Amino acid sequence: AKTIGIIGGGQLGRMLAMAAARLGLKTIILEPQADCPAAQVANTHLKAAYDDAQALAELASLCDVVTYEFENVPVDAALTLSRSVAVFPPPRALDVSQDRLTEKQFLNDNGITTAPFRAVDDQAGLEAALADFGGEGVLKTRRFGYDGKGQRVYRKGESAEGGFAALGSVPLILEGFIPFEREISVIAARSESGEIACYDPAENVHRDGILHTSTLPARITTETAEAARAAARKLLTGLNYVGVVGIEFFLMADGALVANEMAPRVHNSGHWTEAACVISQFEQHIRAVAGLPLGATARHSDCIMTNLIGADVDALPAWLTKDNVLVHLYGKAEARPGRKMGHVTELLKR
Ligand code: ATP
Ligand code: MG
Ligand code: MG
Repeated sequence: AKTIGIIGGGQLGRMLAMAAARLGLKTIILEPQADCPAAQVANTHLKAAYDDAQALAELASLCDVVTYEFENVPVDAALTLSRSVAVFPPPRALDVSQDRLTEKQFLNDNGITTAPFRAVDDQAGLEAALADFGGEGVLKTRRFGYDGKGQRVYRKGESAEGGFAALGSVPLILEGFIPFEREISVIAARSESGEIACYDPAENVHRDGILHTSTLPARITTETAEAARAAARKLLTGLNYVGVVGIEFFLMADGALVANEMAPRVHNSGHWTEAACVISQFEQHIRAVAGLPLGATARHSDCIMTNLIGADVDALPAWLTKDNVLVHLYGKAEARPGRKMGHVTELLKR
């Protein structure tokens, strides 16, 4: 049986390990934090930093393939591993997606529309970029932002004074402000042989910058759904990708899509697949990286996935009494504000 290395020990790694176990595969987690969600269910836990040379050598020697559950895996670590073991998705997917500037350039180069953008390296650059965009835009750190952290929206007439320092005096990007109607995402997978499979796009609602719900079906036309899948195919092919990817889009009033960002991993807006599809995004990712055939992405039910963030998990007793609700908790001991504790997917009649 194959052994799969997973870099990162969070809930995504946990759900990947669970899917691997059901396929009779073993998993080894590389994660410095003790008692992390993934280590609770994986076969082995290498407790070391993601760039620890000795741990990487051990991981490579123990695994048939190495994958990852977060996009900020050090690219050098992935490249080091890739010299002695297959690393999927390819390290280039990390390189491209870790920096919002290279990510948008890559998307545009592959024919996928994004917001207009400018690199911002100092306060003068911020003011020039804002002027370019008519005084409004969304300023973001190029690296390490998640759940809406490291961002600032500028509306017309607002002063940008001190704006560069306020986001930490690190390389930034200013994006044009996109007046979207709604947000959707698509989860897609590609196998080593180039086969591609896409799930139905989800409609996503955020609360305090964090994904709150994903609803299926999204209120989009078949043309818009096909455009989302077409973008996914371009991206997967352009990266010679193996594994699951998540792509977020802004949906415009006329049905057009503007790509927001990509995640080279399983994605929170794809958690619904474990309840509403026979093959979840987690199993799909494991199948892709382990060289197994991709599974069907058909959706057998409409559904709504709700994240349990922080104290939301207190509603667990009520969720447990509902019919047609799949509860999934991540084994985290402490429910801090903003912390993803679990999610629930309610199947709806269709
Ligand atoms: P995630 O947790 O999904 O990785 P993130 O921190 O990387 O999030 P983004 O997805 O870039 O952040 O932005 C967070 C949210 O802010 C978006 O889902 C959207 O609602 C809003 N937003 C981001 N960029 C823009 C934009 N250019 N125009 C309008 N709204 C935007
Ligand atoms: Mg992001
Ligand atoms: Mg996002």
